[in-house]
Amino acid sequence: MSPTIIPSSDEAAVSQACKDHSITKTEFDALLSRSVSAKATAYCPYSQFRVGATILTHDGANIDGANVENAAYPVGTCAERVAFGKAVTEGHRKFKAVAVATDISPPASPCGMCRQFIREFCELDAPIFMFDKNGAFIVMRLEQLLPLSFGPEALPPPGSNPI
Ligand SMILES: [Zn+2]
Repeated sequence: MSPTIIPSSDEAAVSQACKDHSITKTEFDALLSRSVSAKATAYCPYSQFRVGATILTHDGANIDGANVENAAYPVGTCAERVAFGKAVTEGHRKFKAVAVATDISPPASPCGMCRQFIREFCELDAPIFMFDKNGAFIVMRLEQLLPLSFGPEALPPPGSNPI
């Protein structure tokens, strides 16, 4: 079954999505507008594929990122990892929602590497909002995008398991 694409103009559906994922409409609006705006900061001369990302912290802050490419292609970094890198190095550790925006439709989802990166810092039920070129979106929980995932709790605490 394909996930539902919700137009951001569908007030009832947006309201329900916010309720389902424990965020306010104001937080949703910020995730939408900021992730869309963040696309303009992308450095993507090779793919021309702009991606914007915005993450929402548990204390209500938003941190934005965009993809940063490189002439040595694999060195480029996705918008989501740029945003999380910024947030973590600014002292944030707990996040309650992630938004990703692209210029295509249907919406693009975070790549596998980013799903794992997000896993480090979000609860399994954290919503990932994926906005298309028109602001319509799919929202899925992290555990749906990355089932049976490996996370920090699987490792012993540092120093507790000498080998
Ligand atoms: Zn990625």
